[in-house]
Amino acid sequence: MKTVQDYIRTIPDFPHEGIMFRDVTTLFADPRGFRMAIDQLLHPYAGQPIDRVVGLEARGFILGGAIAHQLSVGFVPIRKKGKLPAKTIEQAYTLEYGEAVVEIHDDALQPGERVLMVDDLLATGGTAEAGIKLIERLGAVVTGCAFIIDLPELGGRAKLEELGMDVHALCA
Ligand code: IMP
Repeated sequence: MKTVQDYIRTIPDFPHEGIMFRDVTTLFADPRGFRMAIDQLLHPYAGQPIDRVVGLEARGFILGGAIAHQLSVGFVPIRKKGKLPAKTIEQAYTLEYGEAVVEIHDDALQPGERVLMVDDLLATGGTAEAGIKLIERLGAVVTGCAFIIDLPELGGRAKLEELGMDVHALCA
């Protein structure tokens, strides 16, 4: 039987020479693969109270929407700066070259809400850490961080675990 990993392809030298880009569009496009990924992402949280799913732009929206639907809870996007229309709070984080900023609407989460945060891939953990900070600044609680792919050699898992996060990933 095929695993989630079998549906993901690796594209060499994208977006820059030397980068092996994990392309999950082939996983999303396959009905069995996509369902398997959503089911497996949710598996550890069965029976746990989750009030909201937060997805990180952009592939986290695809996963987060399906997961929120499955849990019958609402979905909240964290977006790159300048995309959200209402009042936001923002969080900067470091990239390999330079800085990026992500935002969340300042009324998107209520204090004490339990949040499952999702994205397709965990690398250095910079993006996820910025997401966690935004969620926590609104007073909500991150109960889990779920990813399709974890590249542990890049340090993201260790970084999130140091923050006390529960990290769940389907493959490396
Ligand atoms: P990090 O902030 O270094 O952990 O990088 C994770 C972010 O970069 C996530 O939002 C991913 O969607 C994106 N990303 C980095 N590398 C890849 C890749 O190989 N495939 C898909 N997304 C990637």
